[in-house]
Amino acid sequence: MDFQLNDPSLLKHQGFINGEWLDADDKQTFAVTNPANGEHLGDVASMGGAQTRIAIEAAQVAQAAWKAESAQARSAILERWYALVMANKDDLAKIMTIEQGKPLFESSGEVAYGASFIKWFAEEGKRVYGDTIPAAQSDRRGIAIKQPVGVVGAITPWNFPNAMITRKVAPALAVGCAIVLKPAAETPFSALALVELANRAGVPAGLFNVVPGMDAPAIGGELTSNPIVKKVTFTGSTPVGKLLMQQCAATVKRTSMELGGNAPVIIFDDADLDIAVAGALLSKFRNSGQTCICSNRIIVQDGIYDEFVKRFTAAVKDFRIGNGLDANSTHGPVITEKAAAGIHAKVENAVAQGANVIIGGRISDLGSHFYEPTILTNVNDTMAVFREEIFGPVAPIFKFSTEEQAVAMANDTEFGLAAYFYTENIGRTWRVSEALEYGMVGVNETAITSEVIPFGGVKESGQGREGSKFGLDDYLEIKYICMGGLNR
Ligand code: ADP
Repeated sequence: MDFQLNDPSLLKHQGFINGEWLDADDKQTFAVTNPANGEHLGDVASMGGAQTRIAIEAAQVAQAAWKAESAQARSAILERWYALVMANKDDLAKIMTIEQGKPLFESSGEVAYGASFIKWFAEEGKRVYGDTIPAAQSDRRGIAIKQPVGVVGAITPWNFPNAMITRKVAPALAVGCAIVLKPAAETPFSALALVELANRAGVPAGLFNVVPGMDAPAIGGELTSNPIVKKVTFTGSTPVGKLLMQQCAATVKRTSMELGGNAPVIIFDDADLDIAVAGALLSKFRNSGQTCICSNRIIVQDGIYDEFVKRFTAAVKDFRIGNGLDANSTHGPVITEKAAAGIHAKVENAVAQGANVIIGGRISDLGSHFYEPTILTNVNDTMAVFREEIFGPVAPIFKFSTEEQAVAMANDTEFGLAAYFYTENIGRTWRVSEALEYGMVGVNETAITSEVIPFGGVKESGQGREGSKFGLDDYLEIKYICMGGLNR
């Protein structure tokens, strides 16, 4: 399938360190393939720990000058980066679809979403306010100022190859930090195109470095152990997040962790069923179920259960899975053959314990990267589809009777990222919103994210918030200054 770019020079195959495009020091490369058809898209420099160290050292030098610039000067460069990302939206979307698989309309939406973080933080970076503190002694005055943490290490996943990068890089640069990024090996091209555009926008050399590589532990090991790095920000799986936190402990680095989820979407008897079906569908199947805030468990009250399943199934029958570049495709492949096999194993686990497959339940005839949109009923809380993040287009629909039961089921997980529920009852809206142990709650809405809201989880879903005015805090230290001697 044709993926001609308007600007072919956006497709980069090298790493970007200190303002230069570089091969791996040992000339190693790794192959990137299109999950829709296995097509070989290119070979990218596979860098390791030594080049990560060089990038960190360059970042340290660049950051010293960058933090001394005015917030306005930094903002002007970020605004140019934003404009370039939007001007190249079509190319960035095509690059994303060929390496990640999601349909072009979703890629295009993600590029705009990713760009919105650059614009937002270009603005918010001018509002890093401190406090004056009434002193405890009459001859003193107290002030709290906020300063950039310094050099930041960032590690990002393949499911949102653009937006997971901009929402880390933009706030870091806006407040005067420098950053060294390791993108996922499945989707390096989106990251490399973003840094190319940042470079064209005038981001000074050394401030934004991209170190692609196959050896994640080598790059991650350097980012988490090098004393120059003051903060590590990660989006990915909970086990890797825990490992990185352990590694960061040795040098007491700050961390921001955006980890796995197990989102419930609760549909109460009093919900508007059309809105609930549409919301659950969107949240479950976006990006073929490969988002950390995808509804993982659909939990429906017994009075409307059968009707919900009927309408939900009718809507899923209209899906057309296929190559994301094909305008007819509503849903693309999953990222790898291994991922499809893992999804199928969870379905088999449920079926072995008595679940009914209403639709799907198998790897598609389109190929080993495609999993058929699947609905399971007669499911329970001992199954893997209840306990684990499915990360695929599989919708298990659980049944409950009372509000207490629904809340208990929703909270019965070590995860706490996003939760959703549908009701028309105002009292229940407050009760359930407050009872859900999650960082984000959508009431009668599953499309809850944007650059203006604080995105993040509780429990083992992570710590820190991305986006919104709070998203700056993760890149800032508070310094208290005591000014004494006022009586002299
Ligand atoms: P996913 O299931 O989304 O691939 P991972 O947590 O495995 O989740 O991957 C997210 C990111 O973390 C990717 O960029 C991956 O290369 C990176 N990663 C995986 N293992 C390690 C590790 N041991 N150290 C540092 N980074 C890692």
